[in-house]
Amino acid sequence: MKEGLVCIIGHPVAHSRSPLIHQYWLRTHRIAGDYVREDVLPANIEAFLDSLVKSRYIGGNVTIPHKEIAFRKVAKTDAVAKALRAVNTLWIEDKNLCGANTDVYGFLTHLDRSQPNWSGRTNTGVVIGAGGVARAAVYGLIERDIQNIVIVNRTPARAQDLAAHFQRRATPQAFAELPKLLGNADLLVNATSLGMKGQPPLQIDLTNLKNGAVVYDLVYVPLETGLIKAARAAGFAVVDGLGMLLHQAVPAFEKWFGVRPQVTSELRKLIIEDLEKDAAR
Ligand code: NAP
Repeated sequence: MKEGLVCIIGHPVAHSRSPLIHQYWLRTHRIAGDYVREDVLPANIEAFLDSLVKSRYIGGNVTIPHKEIAFRKVAKTDAVAKALRAVNTLWIEDKNLCGANTDVYGFLTHLDRSQPNWSGRTNTGVVIGAGGVARAAVYGLIERDIQNIVIVNRTPARAQDLAAHFQRRATPQAFAELPKLLGNADLLVNATSLGMKGQPPLQIDLTNLKNGAVVYDLVYVPLETGLIKAARAAGFAVVDGLGMLLHQAVPAFEKWFGVRPQVTSELRKLIIEDLEKDAAR
């Protein structure tokens, strides 16, 4: 077991629940350490990352908009980060800044726990969105060998770029095609910010969605998005976005502190209470 100080690096970063998650595990495992926020402007991120190896930190998480620059700055990284060209977890090894990406692990682990054997039942996965989290979701589906992966995005060029990034293992389609695509979808993933507090809702008609489909909304503020409510009301299996956040934190904590923590119902409750406070504000 190791001790030390870790930070989350982003801009903005005040909204991040990662400190709550890691502080819970530090308390649970009685580790002397802390996890704090570092709001770093894009203009300062290179210098900040350069200074990390000689700083008081033993590691960090990276969130928007710095995951790509973090990937370019690390001396050593893992296969997932290479595939995504984005790093969300940093640590220091032999005086070198090293990085990994645990988002895909979080995406898949939560889906596996919520819907065991989902991949065996999934021929077609439709991902709405083409930003950072969509990249992790599409790669997760590729890793599980889903045959037909479709990306639908408001800006078609970004869906095309994402498909090209993964050597066309996924197919870009126009948003207008969504009603038709839903008829074949075994898994529908919302990887846009639509439905998030302060954003417009994701308005899609689920009437055509294939019987037995799983609806996975990666938005977790609020936890019960309009999409989750509509899918549940229509009898579809639903998976919320909070589990991905909790599970992506597990390998990071283990890397820094040498203990593999658990995603417990107590931790989930703690974060939900915090999200509810936010929703009431
Ligand atoms: P991002 O890179 O900024 O991508 C945002 C995506 O949302 C893009 O595809 C964008 O489409 C789409 N979008 C935004 N406004 C839209 C609108 N009005 N109409 C249609 N599409 C719209 O953000 P990100 O990092 O991928 O994060 C997306 C969301 O995922 C976040 O808001 C957050 O709720 C969630 N998230 C969850 C987790 C988790 O652990 N569960 C982790 C990270 C993020 P365009 O390309 O057309 O702009």
